[in-house]
Amino acid sequence: MLSEFDLITRYFTRAPRAGGPVLLGVGDDCALLAPPAGEVLAISTDMLVEGRHFFAGADPEALGHKALAVNLSDLAAMGAQPLGFTLALALPAADAGWLEAFSRGLLRLADEHRIELVGGDTTRGPLNLCITVFGSVPPKQAMRRDGARDGDEIWVSGTLGDARLALEALQHKLTLTAQQMAMARPRLDRPLPRNALGCALRSIATAAIDVSDGLLGDLGHILECSGVGAVIDADALPCGAALTLEGQARRRAFALNGGDDYELCFTAPVQSRTAVLDAAQRSGVPVTCIGRITREPGMHVTDGNGTALAVHSSSFDHFANP
Ligand code: ADP
Ligand code: MG
Repeated sequence: MLSEFDLITRYFTRAPRAGGPVLLGVGDDCALLAPPAGEVLAISTDMLVEGRHFFAGADPEALGHKALAVNLSDLAAMGAQPLGFTLALALPAADAGWLEAFSRGLLRLADEHRIELVGGDTTRGPLNLCITVFGSVPPKQAMRRDGARDGDEIWVSGTLGDARLALEALQHKLTLTAQQMAMARPRLDRPLPRNALGCALRSIATAAIDVSDGLLGDLGHILECSGVGAVIDADALPCGAALTLEGQARRRAFALNGGDDYELCFTAPVQSRTAVLDAAQRSGVPVTCIGRITREPGMHVTDGNGTALAVHSSSFDHFANP
């Protein structure tokens, strides 16, 4: 039987990379991190709970990936460079096979982003994964939610809606072809946080958020914080490859209110269009202009001809959807 300390040593302890920001990692009372001089820390926590954020029996390798990915996505949305993260883990049992696969998924994504696991806490309990990420950013370049201005263009990275499509197929709410499921499932299980794009948009974007609860709801947070409104062209929304094969009503619904997309939604002045497209090119992620910020508060969705569509934001709320 693995002890708590064997478990931490075997699956979660690695020597910090020389020359990186981690002076001291797992094994002491605290980790020591050195952010670059003149930058501030960007800190975010996201928790994944079995039965709430993932199905019981979910693939542990994908869970390891997703638990870190959703946290990295918050750093991306702030334009912060990832430095390190901690992992608070409640496990029903110290199952070696599960831990091996979970840590593989987790640490592979960590390596891809050159970010280190620097500490955490491990306890027995119902499966619960809580990660806190630490990043750094020059204070004036952080992409906050309150910077959108009248006339700014609204952009979204990558594509929307495939994660929701996969989720509803797994819940037997709709049926997908095998080919669609093969395209959509990775978007749900292994989201790719847009950190390169987030950092490239520093000092270009006026505001940014990552799309985790659905585009309309998340953009709504920018509008509220910035005291502005928006007009969105539903026909301009970039749909996921699997969603593209669905009818118009579902395409619009899932692109607008999908959830679990982990794309970036951001605003930038019209004059910055070339800079935005250049940042996207450099980071290898396509971006699409989907609308414009307005002075009058409120969200208006139109079709490609500018005709108003009656849509509502059904952003996910854990307490509204028990
Ligand atoms: P403390 O009693 O000081 O809270 P612990 O005994 O909980 O320390 O943990 C010992 C060390 O292992 C600490 O450095 C802690 O950060 C680290 N640690 C514990 N759990 C994890 C985990 N799941 N992943 C990474 N590091 C962990
Ligand atoms: Mg502890």
